[in-house]
Amino acid sequence: ESFPVVVVGAGPAGLTVGNILRAAGVDCLVLEAESRDVVEERPRAGVMEEWAVRGLERRGLAGRLLERAERQSACEFRFDGQGYRFPYTELTGRHHWIYPQPMLVTDLVREYAEVRGGAIRFGVRDVRLHDLDSDRPTVSYTDPGSGERRLVRCAFVAGCDGARGASRAALPTGTRVARHDYGIGWLALLAEAPPSSDRVLFGMHANGFAGHMPRSAETTRYYLQCPPGDDPADWPHDRVWEELGRRLHAADRPPLTEGRLVEKRVLDMHNYVVEPMVSGRLLLAGDAAHLVAPIAAKGMNLALHDAFLLGDGLAAYLVKGESAGLDGYSEACLRRVWDYQEFSQWLAEIYHGTSSGDPYRAGTALARLRRLFTSPAAAAAFAEQYLGTAEAY
Ligand code: FAD
Repeated sequence: ESFPVVVVGAGPAGLTVGNILRAAGVDCLVLEAESRDVVEERPRAGVMEEWAVRGLERRGLAGRLLERAERQSACEFRFDGQGYRFPYTELTGRHHWIYPQPMLVTDLVREYAEVRGGAIRFGVRDVRLHDLDSDRPTVSYTDPGSGERRLVRCAFVAGCDGARGASRAALPTGTRVARHDYGIGWLALLAEAPPSSDRVLFGMHANGFAGHMPRSAETTRYYLQCPPGDDPADWPHDRVWEELGRRLHAADRPPLTEGRLVEKRVLDMHNYVVEPMVSGRLLLAGDAAHLVAPIAAKGMNLALHDAFLLGDGLAAYLVKGESAGLDGYSEACLRRVWDYQEFSQWLAEIYHGTSSGDPYRAGTALARLRRLFTSPAAAAAFAEQYLGTAEAY
């Protein structure tokens, strides 16, 4: 079997690359380790930046998103028992869009496989990449039905298989991977409960950070800072809601709307960046190339940014023989990746400094936070970075 491009991983990055290639008339094969049900139901991200929505729209991939996603124009910081609304749209003219990742993935799978006629195999096992330094690399995998090994020849491999995939592992030894570990955990929760506010809430409290992210009329994501490696079983229903209530308390706001917790897992907060994102004929995109802890809700946005550049670059090369997009791919992606990494670091200190136990860090974190509400220049800078660029892709 042979395809110009093999895409490993059917997340937001891989499916977007596949859709762009199909629209340009380029054949590709998407290989996904999980079943279609799993990828269409896995709850993860939900906050999308406006340029990412427009980038999908421009490529014919935002039809259902534009009908169903909610636009947000403010977030709110809660500390010292008060709520402080931060109206970012007033400052930038741009919005955040709330569209749960499983809904986006469902749209992208449907468009790729059923509308654009792209090839996709779910449930494949033991994907391996070979001869990436040659111009005829191959990808092998075990077929879930027959149990047989299959070999696919291609010209390029798009490594879009996330943080624990096979692509990053196939990079040559000595590839630079910059890492940062926050040394803290976040208990990520999904509640079957209507949002407690129409906006994202960030709670800074001596016990640790708490977050509230509306996902739909019936579901809300919450986060609770906890020790890294904490056992979710140690966080029963009552303890979770009591602690969320405490850390997100504001005297002038209604109490939280409680509900059943349908997802509970501890994220060890860490980041990494692979530089460069290309090795021979392997091009990484999304979490396979860089991880950013969900502090500023940037991960899926970065994955889409990579996918736009990679899809466009591969299409230009394979259809018209133009190589500029592919040649500049890694550098163009990494500029935004590092910008978002730095912003996440900056914001993390506001979230976690107050509960660090170090009065000096707590003092400077609160000063950083108050500045957003006293200095128009600081507020404008925050809004610009929180919303991402105005540039179109
Ligand atoms: P993934 O979505 O991880 O997709 C990779 C795919 O590859 C998966 O389907 C996987 O099954 C498959 N795969 C893995 N290994 C193999 C293999 N060996 N062979 C074949 N296939 C394989 N980002 C935001 O922008 N905003 C948010 O609000 C936000 N919130 C988040 C909340 C949580 C709790 C988490 C965990 C993440 C959050 N993120 C957020 C990050 C976001 O979910 C990721 O950045 C995004 O999923 C990256 O997309 P991707 O396509 O690169 O990788």
